Amino acid sequence: MRLAEVWSEVIPYLHTEADVEHKVINPLLTELGYRSNDFTVQFKFDQFRLDFLIQGNQLPRLAYLIIEAKAPRHNLNEDIWQIRRYVRHVKAPFGLLTNGKQFQVFCEWNNRIIKVFDLDQKGLIDNFDQVRKVIGKEASLRYIASLTQVQMPIVPDPIYLTPTEKKAMIITVFNNKGGVGKTTTTINLAAALSKLGKRVLLIDIDAQANLTTGLGIDPLVDIEQQGKKDIVDLLTDRDVKLPDTITRKRWGDVVLDIVPSHIRLSDMEATLTQAVDGDRVLIRKLKNYKQNYDFILIDPPPSFSKVNTIALMAASHILIPTQLAAYPVRALEYVLTRTLGISKDRDEPLKMLGVAVSMYDKSATSGNREMVEKIHQKLQATGELIPLFPESTWIPQFKVVALNPDRGYPLCHADTDKDLPTGDKIKAADAFECYLRLAKHLLKISEEERATV
Ligand code: ATP
Ligand code: MG
Repeated sequence: MRLAEVWSEVIPYLHTEADVEHKVINPLLTELGYRSNDFTVQFKFDQFRLDFLIQGNQLPRLAYLIIEAKAPRHNLNEDIWQIRRYVRHVKAPFGLLTNGKQFQVFCEWNNRIIKVFDLDQKGLIDNFDQVRKVIGKEASLRYIASLTQVQMPIVPDPIYLTPTEKKAMIITVFNNKGGVGKTTTTINLAAALSKLGKRVLLIDIDAQANLTTGLGIDPLVDIEQQGKKDIVDLLTDRDVKLPDTITRKRWGDVVLDIVPSHIRLSDMEATLTQAVDGDRVLIRKLKNYKQNYDFILIDPPPSFSKVNTIALMAASHILIPTQLAAYPVRALEYVLTRTLGISKDRDEPLKMLGVAVSMYDKSATSGNREMVEKIHQKLQATGELIPLFPESTWIPQFKVVALNPDRGYPLCHADTDKDLPTGDKIKAADAFECYLRLAKHLLKISEEERATV
């Protein structure tokens, strides 16, 4: 069994509660059949903070298992009151208390919280089938299915899972010119929106998977080898639903749901082209989940490929990033023509939020003025009211931004990076301020639009 191998390797390195969470509980959850979107870590519930909460994926999400982790030196018998209290308060049927060496499973029975397992690591591995039958994913699904027909207490997830009346603004960040800052803008704009309290989903639909890796997810190691689903599964397998493909990442108060990409997307052109009504595959998959988010941002490739059409068909809005340089500005003409063309093929028009400037050189004032003039001419030539975003929202060129993708987090998280010099942390904070201004502008537009609908 894989778990036995993983655990035998980590035993000498178990010192803290965090070690127990990462090296013992995470592999255990995987072995029990859970994926990252089945549970929330550090879940706040009233006055409690649960180390792990496993919930159903359908709305409303029903609690199934609470896990309380302790450092390995802890005597679990002294902490039983705590898990009992959590199970009772949250009204979950099961609780697991573990210090990484000993595992105690509790269950609610006739208004009492009773202990059903008390096992050491070897005991758990030897009796794994029994344990899985009680707290494994399949058992949780059966339990939740049986409850959704009857009245039950509902466990609310304050940030993500309470559907609202409002539907997400689905924004495809589009420019077929390569390297104009689409992915960098998407990542940091999403982080800024989350920082401002918005619920954000990111969809990487580019085989380069720059957004995925830029957020610290390795498509091979973290997704494929863990048996998780990605954008290719979402687009090509009709049984795969959006929640099956979501990986959630947290950096302090910034929380992003991410549909990761994979290089094999580049081999899917023929499959996607042949699919019946294939252009609408993504919009169909998003249909039932628009109320779970305020913003869904899609990051397509720079090419003219099928996935580009799919990304444009799925969007309610388009945001066009550009640089103030000759080639990107020249490419705008095609971007505008293509977007207006797609808009005509749709039931609802595709709204253009506007053109956002990225990577501009602050010192090149006269050159910038010239480019701005050209952009205005191109926008006017469309005969539509498409704005160039105000200068206060433009993102300058920052060395720290260019180096950031390898670090695997959005810029707002740089201040916690032990390996980053203080000067770079300050520059990263300055750069993130620019994305915050862009996010606030977007919020203003979206509120104005809602007010006029
Ligand atoms: P592609 O068309 O390949 O998908 P893209 O349009 O998504 O590219 P990015 O990958 O975001 O563009 O950016 C291209 C390069 O410019 C990257 O190396 C990125 O780190 C860098 N970059 C993006 N924004 C900035 C910025 N504000 N300052 C400095 N460098 C930046
Ligand atoms: Mg990109």
